[in-house]
Amino acid sequence: MLRAYVGMGSNLGDRIGNLGAALSALDATPGVAIAAVSSTYESEPWGVEDQPAFANLVVGLDVDIDAHQLLEACQRIESDLGRVAGVRYGPRAIDLDILLFGNAQIGTTALTVPHPRLLERDFVVTPLLEIAPGVLLPDGTPVTVDSAIEGRVTRRLAPAPD
Ligand code: ADP
Ligand code: MG
Repeated sequence: MLRAYVGMGSNLGDRIGNLGAALSALDATPGVAIAAVSSTYESEPWGVEDQPAFANLVVGLDVDIDAHQLLEACQRIESDLGRVAGVRYGPRAIDLDILLFGNAQIGTTALTVPHPRLLERDFVVTPLLEIAPGVLLPDGTPVTVDSAIEGRVTRRLAPAPD
């Protein structure tokens, strides 16, 4: 068993409801159990700026499946929750990104882990540090807010669920 971290974002429809539905679906996935959930934060849109603000959280998972199986589970959840394929970085009901998968470094066509933009994104770094203070990348780089200049968190929207 190892610890993985997945970042989630939603900026369409019932944002907090979408995040909750994705958490339930992840927890219902065989070989995946939720170990920790961050607060939900609101963050500025990034990439395409003319779109609604995002709600974001990070979930820590105890996983007994491999990283590509976890990616498949994330993609199934995205499509079940009605993500419309469209503009890259555009509005989405739900986006799930694998941030860290134990100490694995993965570079396949389907999957790059650690997530290549993890350190630049405040909407990832802030919730990740809430549930994993002091976390390091597999190469030993500390995760800090200093480099997280994209997708700034503007407020805490909801506390971590019980
Ligand atoms: P973004 O998350 O950068 O806004 P998308 O969600 O549209 O963009 O990108 C999805 C693609 O990213 C998928 O085809 C998936 O194979 C690929 N991908 C590569 N690395 C990861 C990762 N660590 N987590 C999730 N998807 C990844
Ligand atoms: Mg994604």
